[in-house]
Amino acid sequence: MTKRVFNFNPGPAALPLEVLEQAQAEMLDFKGTGMSVMEISHRSKEFESVIQTAEADLRELMGIPANYKVMFLQGGAHLQFSMIPMNLRAAGASADYIVTGTWSKTAVKEAKKLGATRVAANTEADGFKGLPASLDLDPKAAYLHFTSNETIHGVEFFKEPVPPAGVPLVCDSSSDFISHPIDVSKYALIYAGAQKNAGPSGVTIVIERDDMIERTPENLPVMLDYKIMATSGSLHNTPPCWSIYMVGLVLQWVKKMGGLTAIEKTNRTKAELIYNAIDNSGGFYRGHALPDARSIMNIPFRLPSEELEDAFVKEAKKNDLIGLKGHRSVGGMRASIYNAMTVEGAQALANFMAEFQKKNG
Ligand SMILES: *Cc1c(COP(=O)(O)O)cnc(C)c1O
Repeated sequence: MTKRVFNFNPGPAALPLEVLEQAQAEMLDFKGTGMSVMEISHRSKEFESVIQTAEADLRELMGIPANYKVMFLQGGAHLQFSMIPMNLRAAGASADYIVTGTWSKTAVKEAKKLGATRVAANTEADGFKGLPASLDLDPKAAYLHFTSNETIHGVEFFKEPVPPAGVPLVCDSSSDFISHPIDVSKYALIYAGAQKNAGPSGVTIVIERDDMIERTPENLPVMLDYKIMATSGSLHNTPPCWSIYMVGLVLQWVKKMGGLTAIEKTNRTKAELIYNAIDNSGGFYRGHALPDARSIMNIPFRLPSEELEDAFVKEAKKNDLIGLKGHRSVGGMRASIYNAMTVEGAQALANFMAEFQKKNG
């Protein structure tokens, strides 16, 4: 049998085993075509069905209202850092950003290159450990941008920030996309690179309300123009067919698991196993995020010394627990436990943490 490990990589990340098996089974002959999905036209009826089913399943899972478009784009979440100000911030207008970690900080940096950008809150002075206590909001902002889950610092919003009346809410949901239900009607635009929770890298999902699409200025480069991408059904040019197909398989898997409410319950169970291992360690393990802002997707934590941290990574690997080394900016460990991580995997890590402490504490 093929050996599989417990994969805690932050992204690209683990995919559900059933999804990989289905992709394997359909690899050489997709639905009787005698070809792989990678080999068929993006304008064929077979691919049309792939992209339309993926969109329909996403709409059903997230409860996306009819007045929103779903797009499957390229360029990762990084390209959205630029496309959002290009499309949504009219010339001369300013946009507000909430900064709670590396990713929202990067979004600000990109937005500033293109025009007026205000920081409505910034938790960096406190080490990006929590959510902002208050927001300094511009009532005339073109939009308010936030990052619902900071993948590196492990800080997650469980309630959306509330923008001033009439200010559209924009969210980078790359690392907590489809991990729990949200009320899409509160958002003007949601975007997510697929490679954390929704599939392989190569495709970015953008959900945008129709009135926002009307803001698209004239004469943007076609690949940066939401209106063109939305009205062409993401088929203005050749889309990342294979990645979209894989996202479709993941969405079907999420439906089979019982949808987003059921997925959230499992995600909370997994996160609790690991947070308990931290909290019950008498200070041997120290979580980065403050308890009320703790992510259920990414759990960064430290050990008493860098030597112990190196030993932890090595020992963990021997136990088939992979991808636990933290981001250099936070140091220590990070356990990424996206939808595809099993409860069994989270339990294996929690057990390993207790064992490791017993030997080294
Ligand atoms: C991974 C990540 C990004 C960067 O995604 P790319 O697809 O590599 O551009 C941006 N924001 C968040 C929250 C992320 O987790």
